[in-house]
Amino acid sequence: AGPGSRDYVALEARYGARNYHPVPVVVDRALDCLVWDVEGREYIDMMGAYSAVSHGHLHPRLVAAAQRQLGKVAVTSRAYYGNTLGPFLAKLCSIAGFQRALPMNTGAEAVETAIKCARRWGYRVKGIPDGQAEILVARGNFHGRTNTIIGFSSEPEYRAGFGPFAPGFRHFDFGDMASIEAAATPNTCAVLIEPIQGEAGVIVPPAGFFRELRDWCTRNRVLLIDDEVQAGLGRTGRWFAFEHEGIRPDALILGKALGGGLLPVSAFLADDAVMDVFNPGSHGSTFGGNALAAAVALEGLRVIEEERLVERAAEMGPYLMRRLQDVQAAAGPLIRDVRGRGLWIGVDIDPAHGSARRLVERLAERGVLSKETHETVIRFAPPLTITRELIDRAVDIFRGVVLQGRP
Ligand code: PMP
Repeated sequence: AGPGSRDYVALEARYGARNYHPVPVVVDRALDCLVWDVEGREYIDMMGAYSAVSHGHLHPRLVAAAQRQLGKVAVTSRAYYGNTLGPFLAKLCSIAGFQRALPMNTGAEAVETAIKCARRWGYRVKGIPDGQAEILVARGNFHGRTNTIIGFSSEPEYRAGFGPFAPGFRHFDFGDMASIEAAATPNTCAVLIEPIQGEAGVIVPPAGFFRELRDWCTRNRVLLIDDEVQAGLGRTGRWFAFEHEGIRPDALILGKALGGGLLPVSAFLADDAVMDVFNPGSHGSTFGGNALAAAVALEGLRVIEEERLVERAAEMGPYLMRRLQDVQAAAGPLIRDVRGRGLWIGVDIDPAHGSARRLVERLAERGVLSKETHETVIRFAPPLTITRELIDRAVDIFRGVVLQGRP
């Protein structure tokens, strides 16, 4: 027999950097909402690569779009125009309702793009002295892993030993308008915020908070920058999470699912008045907006629209939520909370009664993929193509794992 799971785990452990602690499942292949390991065991993917696989794994239309483009050209850089980028940007702008989009690759790069844009807007448009612009960010934020971004993380674990960090960021408490007012100064150019805090444990803001924030930003000439790298493109049951709040941000950051689960594709979107602070030479990326990425991302947007994936998330999300709440009711004090929006749900485990990591590992042993965050929250973010039947199978297994060992 050839190499097995143990061998691949050993190879990564031997040669990989120690920056991850993966669940011990060695994935060989995947299709839609199912994943198989190298021994051929089947899993229901309730994790979707941290919301990057919203279309389901290897969606046939996306694979076909990639194959078509691979018969033509993949990468030329932005030194030239292409015949896939323009159509992709036009579609993206029309769906999101912004005038312009700047394509990048990863979520963190798009966040860096937003930071540059906001600071220059503060300088050029708002008249903040160059080098003095400040951006307000939430405690518990997660916007990526570059040094600028971890520099304003409130997580000691992400920061320890990596300083010095870039100045120009001030913290407020997520969902608390008074703390935003307290953190603001005349040099505040932007509020950078997730509509739902993902890595912090799927934290949904209090009703009305974003409306107040929107008003405050408008009154104070501060850009509201909405990081929907994880929340965007249907995950919450609307195209964009800001729609639940009845607001429109000044700029939007997308990533993850934008690449259709095939490629890294991200984007920063804004209207002319904001985006025009960039001029030729002020920003870019060799791979950002490459022909292959743009072809796949364009097809990905069409698939979300034509297969009604947003509506599916709006229907399946509440169903998954109800089923998990039933488990919570049966589980007693082990589960403190079940929260989220659409197909993005966190199950909060009381550490006095059990370990989220241990539950995630036991779920994997029984054929369900999930992931813990912050040691106490189990996260479910399946592809938006998930069916009722697969949700039932996954939640039945979850129930068995949670209730195991109880009288
Ligand atoms: N913003 C948010 C809200 C995220 O959840 C993430 C990733 N979890 C990022 C940015 C960073 O994206 P990437 O890992 O592609 O850099």
